[in-house]
Amino acid sequence: MKTINRRQFLSLSALAGAGAFIPQIAKASSNEVAAKKKIPTRKLGKTGLKLPILSMGVMRADNPAVLRAAYNSGITFFDTAYGYQNGKNEEMVGEFFKDKDRSTFYIATKGNPGRRDDIEAGFEEMLNTSLRRLQMDYVDIYYAHGLRSTDDVKNPKIINALKKFKSEGKIKHIGFSTHANNPEQIDAAIEAGGYEVILISYNFKLNILPELEAAMQRGVDAGIGFVAMKTMVGGGTEKGSPVDGAACLRWAWNNKNISTAVPGFTSFDLLDNCLLAAHSPNLKGADKKYLAALGQEELLYCQNCGKCVGECSKQLPVPDLMRAYMYNYGYRQPSLSKATLVELSLGSDLCKGCTECTVECPSGFRVAEKIAAISPIVDVPDRFLA
Ligand code: SF4
Ligand code: SF4
Repeated sequence: MKTINRRQFLSLSALAGAGAFIPQIAKASSNEVAAKKKIPTRKLGKTGLKLPILSMGVMRADNPAVLRAAYNSGITFFDTAYGYQNGKNEEMVGEFFKDKDRSTFYIATKGNPGRRDDIEAGFEEMLNTSLRRLQMDYVDIYYAHGLRSTDDVKNPKIINALKKFKSEGKIKHIGFSTHANNPEQIDAAIEAGGYEVILISYNFKLNILPELEAAMQRGVDAGIGFVAMKTMVGGGTEKGSPVDGAACLRWAWNNKNISTAVPGFTSFDLLDNCLLAAHSPNLKGADKKYLAALGQEELLYCQNCGKCVGECSKQLPVPDLMRAYMYNYGYRQPSLSKATLVELSLGSDLCKGCTECTVECPSGFRVAEKIAAISPIVDVPDRFLA
C-alpha cells in the first residue's frame, strides 16, 4: 500500500479532507505515537550531559519544521557549524530556539579558522559570529572543526583558545571533530588534556575499526565522550539505492562508547526512520545480515583513511574530492558539494591530460571516474543548485 509522509499528509488533508486518507492517517499516527516514546539516554564522558542516543545533525536541514519535529520527538542535542549553509544553518537553529527554555536543549557548533598566525583571534571571531547567529550566550559544546592531524589536536594555540572560551562561559565543553578516524588523534587528545568530547566518523564500513575502538576505549577511560557522525555511510550506494539508516544507527549504538549519534536527517520520513531505530536500539540479526550485504556494495562514503594521499600525479586532494562527490550523489546536496570544491580552488576538469590514474583506493573507489563526475559542478551557477 502506498503511504505518504507527514508533510504530504498535512497538505493533502487540507486540500481534500482527511477522511479520504484513513490508511495514511494510521501510518502517520503510529509514527507520532512512536515519536513520543522516550529515547534511551547515555552519559557523554565526564561532561555531566546525559543525551538521548539519537541527536540531530542539522547540517543539511533547511526546513525548521523538521527541527521542530525532532525537538518535539524528544531529541535534545543539535549539532551545527559555523560553515554550514554559509551560516544560514546556525541562523535557523537560533531562530527556532530563541524562545525555548534553554534547559530543554543542547547545542554544539564548530569552527576552524585554518592555518593562520593569529589562530586564537580567528577562533574568537568565528565563535562570536556563531553565538550571534544562534542568538545564544553560550553553546554546550564547541568543536575545533575537522582537525586533520595529531599536531592539530595538540596545538596549544587551539587548546588555549578553547579553554579561554570555556573560562569566559561562552562554551560549556571543549571538543574537536575529525573526519580522518585517526586513533592517534584520540591518543593525542588524551595526552594534550582539555578535550571533553570528540565527534568522530563511525560506521560499520571503516577498515580500522579494531584500532579505532581500542583508542575510543582509552578515551572513555580518560573521561572523553564520543559523538558519532557519518553513521549512514554516505546515505546510499553507487547504484542509487538508499541506505537503511535504522540498521546503521543500531550498529553504531551497539558500541556503548558512542554516547549519541548525529545523523543529518532532512525530512520527516528520515526522522521517523531514525526514531523507530532509537525506540528499538538493539542491533538485530536482520540488521547484521543487511549490513553484511551492504558492505559488499560500492558505497558513496570515502573513509578518509588517507591511504591515497600523495598518490595522485597532480597531487589532487582526493579525500576532499570524494567527500564532495558524496555530498552530491549521496546527500543530494549539490550546493554543499560545489561549496566544498570552490573552497579547494582547483577549478573543473581536474584530471585533464592525465592518461593513467595512479590512485589506488583499498575501498575500491574508482577515483578518476568520481572526480570526472563531480568536478564540473563548480561551473554550474548557484541558481541551478539546490
Ligand atoms: S578515496 Fe579511498 S584511499 Fe582515499 S581516503 Fe577515501 S577511502 Fe581512503
Ligand atoms: S586520473 Fe586524476 S586522480 Fe588519477 S592520478 Fe590522474 S589526475 Fe590524479
